[in-house]
Amino acid sequence: MNAPLPVEVLKQHLIDPEICIRCNTCEETCPVDAITHDSNNYVVDPEICNGCMACVPPCPTGSIDNWRLVVRAEAYSVQDQLGWEELPQEKPLPVDAAAAGEGGQPMPAPQAESGLAQAAAVTAATPGAAVPPWSAAHPYVNLYTHKTPITATVVGNYRVTGADTESDIHHIVLDFGEQPFPVLEGQSIGILPPGVDAQGRPHHARQYSLASPRDGERAGYNNLSLTVKRVTQDHGGAAAHGVCSNYLCDLAKNDPVQVIGPFGHTFLMPNHPQANLIMICTGTGSAPMRAMTERSRRLIGTADIGKLMLFFGARTERELPYFGPLMKLPRDFIDINLALSREPGQPKRYVQDLIRERAAHVRGLLADRNTCIYVCGLKGMEVGVLDALRDVVVQSGEDWSILHDALRREGRLHFETY
Ligand code: NAP
Repeated sequence: MNAPLPVEVLKQHLIDPEICIRCNTCEETCPVDAITHDSNNYVVDPEICNGCMACVPPCPTGSIDNWRLVVRAEAYSVQDQLGWEELPQEKPLPVDAAAAGEGGQPMPAPQAESGLAQAAAVTAATPGAAVPPWSAAHPYVNLYTHKTPITATVVGNYRVTGADTESDIHHIVLDFGEQPFPVLEGQSIGILPPGVDAQGRPHHARQYSLASPRDGERAGYNNLSLTVKRVTQDHGGAAAHGVCSNYLCDLAKNDPVQVIGPFGHTFLMPNHPQANLIMICTGTGSAPMRAMTERSRRLIGTADIGKLMLFFGARTERELPYFGPLMKLPRDFIDINLALSREPGQPKRYVQDLIRERAAHVRGLLADRNTCIYVCGLKGMEVGVLDALRDVVVQSGEDWSILHDALRREGRLHFETY
């Protein structure tokens, strides 16, 4: 009659603030809006999270995949988590709760634990794949963290857009000397800018995609490159000073830079012969496309490389990073389609317009299971690109939803947009 009330145990989903690079992927992916953030941390609301795991595969660092068994009534609140600098230690459960967790009472647990189930959950929530192409090389991730960063040295920093334009985009080369820093095309790194934020805390890392291939910006050297746009305005056009972008763009040769990473285990290029790449990017989203293009170019004559098709959007020719070197690439190596939105005297064009214009060619590549598609750049392009791909497929009487599902399941459609 007076039996104690059962104690409910929760497997609470938490994000490790020491590894998280604040890329917002989890918040965008969560189908029930359980993830939120402030200037300090990304956190999971225990009242909303249903453990569906949709956010886990897309996280480039794995910081999302942390769990603690807690008494539900004592779950860490959003406010608790926002104040954390590190995850709390696992606390022993009270005896009655531990027994409940062992089978006495039902213990809510993540709905989907297997890799396949995770992939299925993410498929429903995001437009891209949660797995890499089958033939991608195995990536290393999180070799260096906020607590154990690696120091690289600047060996090059130069502007790759017209000096008279608003877009101040830099190509920055970092050298790691004798220290191991293995990377693959499509991966990213974190840069720790020096100094502290308005609250007096060290700045968080900022994430940048690699612009160079796995064997170095200069082949055979232990270095890599980044494509960084100096941020002087916020998204609304008001004046704003980008902490990390300004730091990077102002670096001089021989300056030391604190780096963490590498990150990313899905946005990777295929390694098998005859694999085709459709690369769709805007502005500095061209970084991973440069890396993949250069990897393929270095393989010419030694491997059976497939077709490369590039859709590249920029305001004007002079604001398109790497315009000169890109235009020098042989036309039988890469099919280049430039979408210029503010070129004087020309109609405004976006990458999705060009995808529709080149429908027959795109359709041909989509019909080949050796084709992988990569989309990188502005968040706003995601919907437009998906619509254009769907139109191209539907025009030929095929079912886009079937193809879209296959592209995601087979790790052949990848997005990296901010
Ligand atoms: P941007 O110069 O502002 O824009 C590039 C082009 O995209 C312009 O022609 C722009 O046209 C067009 N555009 C705007 N909205 C579009 C839409 N909805 N669909 C298709 N095209 C659209 O680009 P940015 O400043 O370089 O920004 C690139 C983005 O890439 C940033 O969000 C950045 O965070 C992200 N990114 C960077 C890296 C990196 O490693 N640096 C890696 C991944 C992603 P308008 O004339 O209309 O503006």
